[in-house]
Amino acid sequence: MAGEPQADCVFCKIVSGDIPATVVRRSGRTLAFRDINPQAPTHLLVIPHVHYANAAELAAAEPEIAAELLAEAGEAARGEGLESYRLIFNTGADSGQTVFHAHVHVLGGRKLTEGLV
Ligand code: C5P
Repeated sequence: MAGEPQADCVFCKIVSGDIPATVVRRSGRTLAFRDINPQAPTHLLVIPHVHYANAAELAAAEPEIAAELLAEAGEAARGEGLESYRLIFNTGADSGQTVFHAHVHVLGGRKLTEGLV
């Protein structure tokens, strides 16, 4: 069923606690944790508890949770002391998406490159 946990999904396992993560923030329906392969001094991931393949699918099916995800990304960035940061939603393999559970990257702590790609 839509949104149900998937047995082979690493982020579902982080939500359930079966795989450890350095959690920095929780809301009722989301979790924010440090990326294990950081690309900037601060690199967080914010994920919904529910499983959707990407953020667009989450937003189409459960827009309130998508809004919460975005608000939590902002709060998590603020919690890290960031006033300026980048949010990235990789969507599909060619974009670089490797984990097919909706997530937003929160990157900051240094001047980021000005190009988008
Ligand atoms: O957008 P993309 O799918 O490429 O991002 C997945 C991210 O999840 C990667 O940056 C990877 O380092 C991170 N990751 C993690 N902890 C895991 C598995 C992946 O932080 N256990």
